[in-house]
Amino acid sequence: MTDTRVAVVVEDDADIGLLLREVLEMAGFTVHRASTGKEGVRLVQAVTPDLVTLDLGLPDVDGITVCRAIRAITDAYVIMITASTDEIDRLLGLEIGADDFVNKPFSPREIQARVAALFRRPRRIPGQPSADRTASLQVDEHRVVSHGDLEVDLDGRIVTLAGQELPLTRIEFDLLATMLGGPRRVWTRETLLRTVWGAQWIGDDHLVEVHVGNLRRKLGDDARTARWIRTVRGVGYRLAPAA
Ligand code: CA
Repeated sequence: MTDTRVAVVVEDDADIGLLLREVLEMAGFTVHRASTGKEGVRLVQAVTPDLVTLDLGLPDVDGITVCRAIRAITDAYVIMITASTDEIDRLLGLEIGADDFVNKPFSPREIQARVAALFRRPRRIPGQPSADRTASLQVDEHRVVSHGDLEVDLDGRIVTLAGQELPLTRIEFDLLATMLGGPRRVWTRETLLRTVWGAQWIGDDHLVEVHVGNLRRKLGDDARTARWIRTVRGVGYRLAPAA
Protein backbone atom coordinates (compact mmCIF):
# COMPACT_ATOMS: atom_id res chain seq x y z
CA MET A 1 0.00 0.00 0.00
CA THR A 2 1.22 3.48 -0.77
CA ASP A 3 0.72 6.51 1.46
CA THR A 4 0.05 9.00 -1.29
CA ARG A 5 -3.24 8.72 -3.02
CA VAL A 6 -3.36 9.46 -6.71
CA ALA A 7 -6.12 11.32 -8.50
CA VAL A 8 -6.79 11.87 -12.18
CA VAL A 9 -8.81 14.94 -13.16
CA VAL A 10 -10.43 14.67 -16.60
CA GLU A 11 -11.60 18.18 -17.39
CA ASP A 12 -11.28 20.36 -20.47
CA ASP A 13 -12.00 23.65 -18.69
CA ALA A 14 -8.67 24.97 -17.44
CA ASP A 15 -10.11 26.95 -14.50
CA ILE A 16 -12.21 24.08 -13.19
CA GLY A 17 -9.29 21.72 -13.73
CA LEU A 18 -7.08 23.99 -11.66
CA LEU A 19 -9.68 24.28 -8.91
CA LEU A 20 -10.04 20.49 -8.73
CA ARG A 21 -6.27 20.09 -8.69
CA GLU A 22 -5.94 22.52 -5.77
CA VAL A 23 -8.75 20.93 -3.76
CA LEU A 24 -7.42 17.41 -4.27
CA GLU A 25 -3.83 18.37 -3.54
CA MET A 26 -5.01 19.95 -0.30
CA ALA A 27 -6.69 16.63 0.49
CA GLY A 28 -3.33 14.87 0.03
CA PHE A 29 -3.63 13.56 -3.52
CA THR A 30 -1.00 13.59 -6.22
CA VAL A 31 -3.00 14.97 -9.12
CA HIS A 32 -2.68 14.31 -12.86
CA ARG A 33 -4.90 16.11 -15.32
CA ALA A 34 -6.18 15.19 -18.76
CA SER A 35 -8.20 17.57 -20.90
CA THR A 36 -9.80 15.06 -23.27
CA GLY A 37 -11.55 11.74 -22.76
CA LYS A 38 -9.00 9.73 -24.69
CA GLU A 39 -6.14 11.28 -22.78
CA GLY A 40 -8.06 10.60 -19.56
CA VAL A 41 -8.40 6.88 -20.24
CA ARG A 42 -4.70 6.66 -21.12
CA LEU A 43 -3.74 8.51 -17.96
CA VAL A 44 -5.91 6.27 -15.78
CA GLN A 45 -4.26 3.26 -17.33
CA ALA A 46 -0.81 4.74 -16.74
CA VAL A 47 -1.06 5.98 -13.14
CA THR A 48 -3.67 3.60 -11.58
CA PRO A 49 -5.38 6.35 -9.56
CA ASP A 50 -7.47 5.96 -6.40
CA LEU A 51 -9.86 8.65 -7.55
CA VAL A 52 -11.00 10.03 -10.89
CA THR A 53 -13.04 13.19 -11.40
CA LEU A 54 -14.66 13.10 -14.78
CA ASP A 55 -16.33 15.96 -16.61
CA LEU A 56 -19.43 14.82 -18.50
CA GLY A 57 -18.93 17.34 -21.32
CA LEU A 58 -15.57 16.64 -22.92
CA PRO A 59 -14.44 17.83 -26.37
CA ASP A 60 -13.79 14.40 -27.91
CA VAL A 61 -15.68 11.51 -26.28
CA ASP A 62 -18.69 12.01 -24.00
CA GLY A 63 -18.20 11.44 -20.28
CA ILE A 64 -20.53 8.42 -20.15
CA THR A 65 -18.38 6.51 -22.62
CA VAL A 66 -15.23 7.60 -20.81
CA CYS A 67 -16.69 6.52 -17.48
CA ARG A 68 -17.49 3.04 -18.78
CA ALA A 69 -14.02 2.75 -20.29
CA ILE A 70 -12.42 3.80 -17.01
CA ARG A 71 -14.62 1.43 -15.02
CA ALA A 72 -13.45 -1.45 -17.18
CA ILE A 73 -9.81 -0.88 -16.25
CA THR A 74 -9.88 0.37 -12.65
CA ASP A 75 -11.69 0.17 -9.32
CA ALA A 76 -10.86 3.81 -8.59
CA TYR A 77 -13.65 5.94 -7.20
CA VAL A 78 -15.17 7.98 -10.00
CA ILE A 79 -16.84 11.32 -9.36
CA MET A 80 -18.78 12.56 -12.36
CA ILE A 81 -18.92 16.32 -12.78
CA THR A 82 -22.11 17.45 -14.52
CA ALA A 83 -23.61 20.72 -15.66
CA SER A 84 -27.13 20.16 -14.28
CA THR A 85 -29.10 18.09 -11.77
CA ASP A 86 -31.29 16.79 -14.62
CA GLU A 87 -28.20 15.15 -16.01
CA ILE A 88 -27.53 13.45 -12.69
CA ASP A 89 -31.01 11.88 -12.71
CA ARG A 90 -30.45 10.64 -16.23
CA LEU A 91 -27.01 9.24 -15.39
CA LEU A 92 -28.23 7.46 -12.26
CA GLY A 93 -30.57 5.44 -14.44
CA LEU A 94 -27.82 4.44 -16.85
CA GLU A 95 -25.56 2.59 -14.41
CA ILE A 96 -22.40 4.00 -15.85
CA GLY A 97 -20.33 2.98 -12.85
CA ALA A 98 -19.72 6.40 -11.30
CA ASP A 99 -19.60 6.47 -7.50
CA ASP A 100 -20.83 9.99 -7.07
CA PHE A 101 -22.06 13.02 -9.00
CA VAL A 102 -21.26 16.66 -8.47
CA ASN A 103 -23.03 19.51 -10.17
CA LYS A 104 -21.34 22.62 -11.56
CA PRO A 105 -20.75 25.13 -10.12
CA PHE A 106 -19.41 23.43 -7.01
CA SER A 107 -17.50 24.75 -4.03
CA PRO A 108 -14.11 23.37 -2.96
CA ARG A 109 -15.73 22.33 0.30
CA GLU A 110 -18.35 20.28 -1.51
CA ILE A 111 -15.71 18.35 -3.43
CA GLN A 112 -13.73 17.78 -0.23
CA ALA A 113 -16.79 16.43 1.55
CA ARG A 114 -17.71 14.08 -1.31
CA VAL A 115 -14.18 12.72 -1.58
CA ALA A 116 -13.95 12.22 2.19
CA ALA A 117 -17.28 10.35 2.18
CA LEU A 118 -16.15 8.05 -0.63
CA PHE A 119 -12.91 7.17 1.10
CA ARG A 120 -14.66 6.44 4.39
CA ARG A 121 -16.32 3.51 2.70
CA PRO A 122 -14.33 0.28 2.84
CA ARG A 123 -12.17 -0.33 -0.20
CA ARG A 124 -10.87 -3.57 -1.55
CA ILE A 125 -7.31 -3.01 -2.67
CA PRO A 126 -6.33 0.63 -3.03
CA GLY A 127 -5.14 1.48 -6.51
CA GLN A 128 -5.36 -2.07 -7.78
CA PRO A 129 -7.64 -3.21 -10.58
CA SER A 130 -9.98 -6.09 -9.90
CA ALA A 131 -7.67 -8.52 -11.68
CA ASP A 132 -5.70 -8.69 -8.43
CA ARG A 133 -8.68 -10.06 -6.54
CA THR A 134 -7.68 -13.68 -6.99
CA ALA A 135 -4.17 -13.11 -5.73
CA SER A 136 -5.42 -11.46 -2.55
CA LEU A 137 -7.90 -14.26 -1.92
CA GLN A 138 -5.11 -16.72 -1.43
CA VAL A 139 -3.27 -14.76 1.22
CA ASP A 140 -5.89 -12.78 3.13
CA GLU A 141 -8.48 -13.85 5.60
CA HIS A 142 -11.93 -13.03 4.36
CA ARG A 143 -15.10 -12.47 6.31
CA VAL A 144 -17.82 -14.14 4.35
CA VAL A 145 -21.52 -13.68 5.11
CA SER A 146 -24.13 -15.82 3.47
CA HIS A 147 -27.86 -15.42 3.12
CA GLY A 148 -29.57 -18.26 1.28
CA ASP A 149 -27.46 -18.94 -1.80
CA LEU A 150 -26.09 -15.41 -1.70
CA GLU A 151 -22.51 -15.21 -0.49
CA VAL A 152 -20.81 -11.93 0.32
CA ASP A 153 -17.07 -11.72 0.86
CA LEU A 154 -16.85 -8.53 2.91
CA ASP A 155 -13.09 -8.10 2.59
CA GLY A 156 -12.75 -9.19 -1.01
CA ARG A 157 -15.94 -7.27 -1.85
CA ILE A 158 -17.15 -10.12 -3.99
CA VAL A 159 -20.78 -11.19 -4.16
CA THR A 160 -21.82 -14.51 -5.58
CA LEU A 161 -25.35 -15.77 -6.13
CA ALA A 162 -25.57 -19.55 -6.47
CA GLY A 163 -21.85 -19.55 -7.27
CA GLN A 164 -22.12 -16.85 -9.94
CA GLU A 165 -20.29 -13.58 -9.30
CA LEU A 166 -22.48 -10.48 -9.48
CA PRO A 167 -20.96 -7.31 -10.95
CA LEU A 168 -22.05 -4.84 -8.26
CA THR A 169 -20.99 -1.21 -8.08
CA ARG A 170 -19.40 -0.02 -4.86
CA ILE A 171 -22.61 1.55 -3.66
CA GLU A 172 -24.64 -1.56 -4.42
CA PHE A 173 -22.10 -3.67 -2.57
CA ASP A 174 -22.11 -1.34 0.43
CA LEU A 175 -25.92 -1.33 0.52
CA LEU A 176 -26.04 -5.12 0.47
CA ALA A 177 -23.23 -5.52 3.03
CA THR A 178 -24.92 -2.99 5.32
CA MET A 179 -28.25 -4.79 5.16
CA LEU A 180 -26.58 -8.13 5.79
CA GLY A 181 -25.21 -6.60 9.00
CA GLY A 182 -28.79 -6.77 10.32
CA PRO A 183 -30.62 -9.29 8.19
CA ARG A 184 -33.84 -9.14 10.23
CA ARG A 185 -34.15 -5.42 10.82
CA VAL A 186 -35.84 -2.79 8.70
CA TRP A 187 -33.35 -0.36 7.20
CA THR A 188 -34.72 3.15 6.79
CA ARG A 189 -33.59 5.13 3.78
CA GLU A 190 -32.04 7.63 6.16
CA THR A 191 -29.91 4.98 7.91
CA LEU A 192 -28.77 3.56 4.59
CA LEU A 193 -27.88 7.05 3.36
CA ARG A 194 -25.89 7.82 6.48
CA THR A 195 -24.09 4.47 6.43
CA VAL A 196 -23.35 4.15 2.73
CA TRP A 197 -23.09 7.76 1.52
CA GLY A 198 -22.36 9.78 4.68
CA ALA A 199 -24.26 12.21 6.91
CA GLN A 200 -24.25 15.10 4.46
CA TRP A 201 -26.60 13.20 2.17
CA ILE A 202 -29.51 13.06 4.61
CA GLY A 203 -32.72 14.01 2.81
CA ASP A 204 -31.67 12.60 -0.54
CA ASP A 205 -33.83 9.45 -0.37
CA HIS A 206 -34.04 9.27 -4.14
CA LEU A 207 -30.42 8.10 -4.27
CA VAL A 208 -31.20 5.13 -2.04
CA GLU A 209 -34.22 4.17 -4.11
CA VAL A 210 -32.31 4.26 -7.39
CA HIS A 211 -29.37 2.23 -6.14
CA VAL A 212 -31.52 -0.30 -4.25
CA GLY A 213 -33.49 -0.66 -7.50
CA ASN A 214 -30.31 -1.40 -9.44
CA LEU A 215 -29.13 -3.84 -6.76
CA ARG A 216 -32.46 -5.65 -6.89
CA ARG A 217 -32.24 -5.99 -10.64
CA LYS A 218 -28.82 -7.56 -10.38
CA LEU A 219 -30.06 -9.95 -7.70
CA GLY A 220 -32.89 -10.96 -10.00
CA ASP A 221 -35.68 -9.40 -7.93
CA ASP A 222 -38.63 -7.88 -9.70
CA ALA A 223 -41.68 -6.00 -8.51
CA ARG A 224 -43.70 -9.18 -7.97
CA THR A 225 -41.16 -11.47 -6.39
CA ALA A 226 -38.99 -9.73 -3.85
CA ARG A 227 -36.82 -12.71 -3.21
CA TRP A 228 -33.99 -10.70 -1.66
CA ILE A 229 -34.98 -7.17 -0.74
CA ARG A 230 -38.45 -6.24 0.43
CA THR A 231 -39.87 -2.75 0.59
CA VAL A 232 -41.40 -1.77 3.91
CA ARG A 233 -43.86 0.89 2.78
CA GLY A 234 -43.11 4.36 4.05
CA VAL A 235 -40.09 3.13 6.02
CA GLY A 236 -37.38 1.48 3.98
CA TYR A 237 -36.16 -1.99 3.19
CA ARG A 238 -35.47 -5.35 4.77
CA LEU A 239 -33.87 -8.51 3.53
CA ALA A 240 -36.29 -11.29 2.73
CA PRO A 241 -35.73 -14.30 5.00
CA ALA A 242 -33.11 -16.65 3.60
CA ALA A 243 -34.67 -19.62 1.82
CA1 CA B 1 -16.40 20.47 -20.10
